[in-house]
Amino acid sequence: MSNSKVVKDSKGHPKGLYLLFVTEMWERFSYYGMRALFMLYMVQALLFDKEMASQVYGSYTGLVYLTPLIGGYIADKYWGNRQSIVVGALVMALGQFLLFLSACYFHQIGIAKWLMFCGLGLLIMGNGFFKPNISTMVGRLYSDDDKRKDSAFTIFYMGVNVGSTLAPLICGLIGNTGHPEDFKWGFLASCIGMILGAVIFQLLKNKYICDPDGNPVGLAPEKKADCTKQDENASARLSARSIVAIISTAVLTLIFSINWDWITGNSDMVGGNVFLGADWIGSLIYATVIVMPVLIITDRSLDKIEKIRIGIIYVIAFFVIFFWAAYEQAGASLTFFADEQTDRNIGGWEMPAAYFQSFNPIMLVLLAPLFAGLWSFLGRKGIEPSSIKKQAIGLLLLAFGYLFIAFGVKDVEPGVKVSMIWLTGLYFIHTMGELCLAPIGLSLVYKLSPARFSSLLMGVWYLSTSAANKMAGMLSGYYPEGGVVKSFLGYQVGDLHDFFLLFVYMSGTAAVVLFLLSGKLQSLMPEK
Ligand code: GLN
Repeated sequence: MSNSKVVKDSKGHPKGLYLLFVTEMWERFSYYGMRALFMLYMVQALLFDKEMASQVYGSYTGLVYLTPLIGGYIADKYWGNRQSIVVGALVMALGQFLLFLSACYFHQIGIAKWLMFCGLGLLIMGNGFFKPNISTMVGRLYSDDDKRKDSAFTIFYMGVNVGSTLAPLICGLIGNTGHPEDFKWGFLASCIGMILGAVIFQLLKNKYICDPDGNPVGLAPEKKADCTKQDENASARLSARSIVAIISTAVLTLIFSINWDWITGNSDMVGGNVFLGADWIGSLIYATVIVMPVLIITDRSLDKIEKIRIGIIYVIAFFVIFFWAAYEQAGASLTFFADEQTDRNIGGWEMPAAYFQSFNPIMLVLLAPLFAGLWSFLGRKGIEPSSIKKQAIGLLLLAFGYLFIAFGVKDVEPGVKVSMIWLTGLYFIHTMGELCLAPIGLSLVYKLSPARFSSLLMGVWYLSTSAANKMAGMLSGYYPEGGVVKSFLGYQVGDLHDFFLLFVYMSGTAAVVLFLLSGKLQSLMPEK
């Protein structure tokens, strides 16, 4: 009996998929468990003001999705996926442990802050190694022509959300008790979750992480024994290109950081300088989003077809920025809305606003099997939408979610609370959109990437989340307050109705344009 038969389960997916499911589930448990407590920890234990805490939070969530680019590069070139996942998991566990120590010493704010920032640095670095590699590994379990990849990535994405559902419940319960000395237990739970994930993966990877022929996957790329003149030239070119990329990123970061109002004299700031108050991390993210994709696609080792495929990934990743920027309002403006304008009374009990954050992962876990089944069903009938159309459907559903809630708040006076049906409905529609877009996007990136660049390109895919997280924070600033009318690119936001419609226009336009482009993109896309 061949090994491939041994590693398949009765439903036909390789057992390795479930190992990746469990590993990712624990990692996301750790990530979202810490995230659920982090803001509260900074404000309630370290006594940061809300603005400072939001800045640290925004920079952390932006950077955490920037480093997958580096982790993807190192994996493709030196370490392979397996080693990167284990290193990433251990680095993150150490990061969570430093947060635990920070919370143990929260009375000594100086030490606690220092430990916290070191911990955050490790989490950012560790996620860079972990996230793109675990996602790429899902695809490697299947042969190139295997049609089950979309459903495999959907099952994997369910693992992400089982972790995200459990995390705030467990870490919130033991860490957010109203006593600042309890935060440490939440961070410790996040640390233990990450260690569990790492141990399970390390113990079982050799047995289950293999391709359909039973060959191990995700090992370090083979080193060539003889280093020829050609190799030397190639690596000299690479270092020259890397230097150009670093310089361009630095220059663009500086340009984006400049306070143009000060230069053009529109600012009443006196005695400041052009970089005063600059958002350096946001600028670095936007600069990287521009420079790195160019660096990758101009690599000389790529042939024309590979370049076209990578170009398609870029086009889709660009549209996906609008999805996550609107979707990530969940942690920002939609939580203000839940808190201030949603009637959360259920039979005399007032549901905490933060509970709405769990609606999406719970709904996702429940709906994921339906969607995996739906794609298979439509596939059998021959009417399954293409992966690119699924991205556009995801964006369209996001727009519908906001349209639904915009309808609910129409003509509602500020301060008047509306039924929770509106927010619940929005999350339900958004979850369906996410299922069309996120797992299918991972699958698409895997299918379109040349094998030797697949983790790096997964890093590029997560770059769009990084940019989107920054953009989400900026857009959330348009949440209407005190009747002040704010203008976004000429669009006036005076009340909640206008605010939600902004996202309808944004994601709706992105959806329509992507639909229109989908035929052309599909025709350029040689299926793997
Ligand atoms: N919920 C997903 C996760 O945590 C979101 C990933 C993304 O690309 N934005 O993995």
